[in-house]
Parts: sequence; C-alpha cells; structure tokens
Amino acid sequence: MNRLAMPPITKVSVVIPVFNEEECLPELIARTTAACDQLTCDYEILLVDDGSSDNSAALMMEAAEAPDSPVIAVILNRNYGQHSAIMAGFGHVSGDLIITLDADLQNPPEEIPRLVEVAATHDVVGTIRADRRDSLFRKTASRMINLLIKRTTGKAMSDYGCMLRAYRRPIVEAMLHCHERSTFIPILANTFARRATEIEVRHAEREHGESKYSFMKLINLMYDLVTCLTTTPLRLLSVVGSVIALGGFALTILLLAMRLFFGPIWGAEGVFTLFAILFFFIGAQFVAMGLLGEYIGRIYNDVRARPRYFVHTVVGERHPQQGNPS
Ligand code: UDP
Ligand code: MG
Repeated sequence: MNRLAMPPITKVSVVIPVFNEEECLPELIARTTAACDQLTCDYEILLVDDGSSDNSAALMMEAAEAPDSPVIAVILNRNYGQHSAIMAGFGHVSGDLIITLDADLQNPPEEIPRLVEVAATHDVVGTIRADRRDSLFRKTASRMINLLIKRTTGKAMSDYGCMLRAYRRPIVEAMLHCHERSTFIPILANTFARRATEIEVRHAEREHGESKYSFMKLINLMYDLVTCLTTTPLRLLSVVGSVIALGGFALTILLLAMRLFFGPIWGAEGVFTLFAILFFFIGAQFVAMGLLGEYIGRIYNDVRARPRYFVHTVVGERHPQQGNPS
C-alpha cells in the first residue's frame, strides 16, 4: 500500500457564501441536500451569510433549526466579501473534505458526488466551466487573468474563477493559518496542494438576481488575486527602468558618435542630448522605485506571515515535537 495515500473521506462539508440570495436559497438548499444524500459518507452544509440586507439570514437560520437538518448557518455581522465569507465558513467545518460552491446556482450542486469521487486521490480538485455562461466582458477578463496566473505560477490551472472546488482538510487548515486580509482562495489553496487536478463541470446562468460583483469590486478582486499570487509587478519597475536607462545611454553614445563623424548638425543644439540625458534619469528613477518595491515586497511577505511549510507525516521520531508552525 502506498503510505502517502490519501486518508478516506468520512465527512463532507459544503461551504456556501450567501449575499442577498433569498430567491436562490430554497432551491439551493433542496438541490444541495439532494446531491449530498447520494454520497455514501456523512455531510454538512455550511451557509455563511455575508451581511445580507434581505431575508437570506432568516431563511438560513430557519433551515438550520429544522430537526435533523444538515444545514449550519454562520451569520457574519456585515459584508466582508465572498472570500472572507468562505474563510469564515472554513473556521467552522468538521468534515475532512471541504467543498465550496456559489449560492446563485451557477455551479450545479449535482456535481458534488463527482468532486468527492475525484478527491479520493487528490487534495485539491479544481473545476473548469464547460460552456461558460457569462458575459463576454467577464470571459475576456478572466482569460487574461488565467494567462497571468499560468505565467507566474507555472501551474496550469485553467479556470480560477469557478468556486465549485474541493479541498482536503489539511489544505483548509493551511489556509486558515494565513493571516493576510486579502485572499483569493483557489490560488492560496494551490500554493499548499500536492496533488491538484481539474475536472470539467457544467455551468448555468444566474437564475435570480444579479451578479454581486460591481466593476470596482471586480477590480479589487483582481488586485487581491495578483497580490495573493506574486510580488513580481514590483520587480517589473526595475526591469522597465533598466530598459529606459539603457536606451538613454545608448542614445547618448549614438549622438556623440554622429556628432564626431558627421558634424555639428547632429547636435541639433543639444535637444537630442537633452532627451538622452532625460531618458537616462527617468530610467534611474524607475530602478529606484523598483528597489523600494523589492523592500515593500519583502515587508509584505513578512507581514502576512504565511507558514513556510507543513509537515505531512513524521516517521520514527523518538521525542514527538510540535510538527507544524503556527
Ligand atoms: N458573495 C458574497 N459576498 C459578496 C459578494 C458575493 O458572499 O460580497 C457570494 C454570492 O452570494 C455568491 C458568490 O459569492 O454566492 C458569487 O457571487 P456572484 O454570483 O455574484 O459572482 P459572479 O458569479 O458574478 O462572479
Ligand atoms: Mg455567480
């Protein structure tokens, strides 16, 4: 037997962030419960109310209070955003496989059994939306983001936007150990994953209400995603600066040579020389900003204090010690 094999799944926790989704809730609870009933293991459904101003919280509490209900309602005191709400849910799960899902039924809950099946041999199961039902603007934006992610992480995860995903318990615990305020859960999970895979899932149009992401919120999410992933943009400043400064330097040499060989007409009364010097200094400024950026990047990494590593197992240790950093 492979000793690094994944432990069996005995309980599944479904975490769903809810923000003003009262029209979707009854169908969401019914369909998610029906899908989970097909599982051979135990399950719970955690609904996290992200400060809804409609009737969502009351509906959730009602569902949780019903006898023998698998529903647990976590009510936040105000709106903190989808990813913070999911994190809040993570703090209350008791299962060993955690599945996240959107409340608007764009991710069909019927896919849960397939996810659980694949998760038997993986610690993160991502999803790709087959026949994606979103506006062209959203599709183009996410295609650009996906390209960026692939470039920077080298991990070929093709659809970070789909929240229907499954994470093993240790991955969720690792994420709970990350104290940064802005997170993008699928990417954070991937940084801790050993065996990650992707499956294709169906994707539906939003049935009720509108997307809870305004343009500004979407921009905010994009910045969260990039900063969660990398501090490379700060380094780009130095690269751009070096290129400009080198360009300025090359221009100076060129002007000097032309002036010497072809006469003062190439001097143009110092105009070009001025440009050359200007480029050189603009470049130098960028390099200096990049240098500041490098320090800021390091400060950022230290401040968010992500755990450096997680121990999977220790074999043969005589004096057991604390295994994981806290
Ligand atoms: N959501 C949330 N807090 C927010 C915004 C959204 O909990 O501030 C939830 C929302 O209820 C839904 C999920 O996050 O369950 C995805 O939101 P939405 O469907 O509006 O996003 P889109 O599908 O347009 O990306
Ligand atoms: Mg949606």
